[in-house]
Amino acid sequence: MFKYDYTNVFAKILKKEIPATIVYEDEYVLAFEDVNPQASVHVLLIPKGYYISMTDFSETAKDEEILAFNRSIVKVVRLKGLDEGGYRIIANTGVNGGQEVPHLHLHIVGGRRLGPMIAH
Ligand code: 5GP
Repeated sequence: MFKYDYTNVFAKILKKEIPATIVYEDEYVLAFEDVNPQASVHVLLIPKGYYISMTDFSETAKDEEILAFNRSIVKVVRLKGLDEGGYRIIANTGVNGGQEVPHLHLHIVGGRRLGPMIAH
């Protein structure tokens, strides 16, 4: 298992060292606008705990953190008006998944038809 890198950009956002446009925040999670949106709605949802990936999170986070993270998805969906039209959740993981930032994040994307699930 890789060690968590406390200098990654999402750790800096959590520590308020760099700004982000916040969509939703509570004790356990932070959701903010992606700086380079791929659709009219593109929000990143992260746990406030320092987890690299879904693997790390699922294996080591407390039940209450996992529950709060999961429940917060629909809160963001509703806040962004995605409930009716639908949306996509993506968790890029590791090298093959194309993960760039090594802090677990869900992309919550919608606002238009998103096309094929995987680019070839
Ligand atoms: P990944 O490829 O790791 O799944 O996604 C990383 C995402 O973080 C990308 O969609 C990228 O646009 C976004 N991102 C990278 N740096 C920043 C930043 O400083 N602020 C925000 N809001 N998003 C960022």
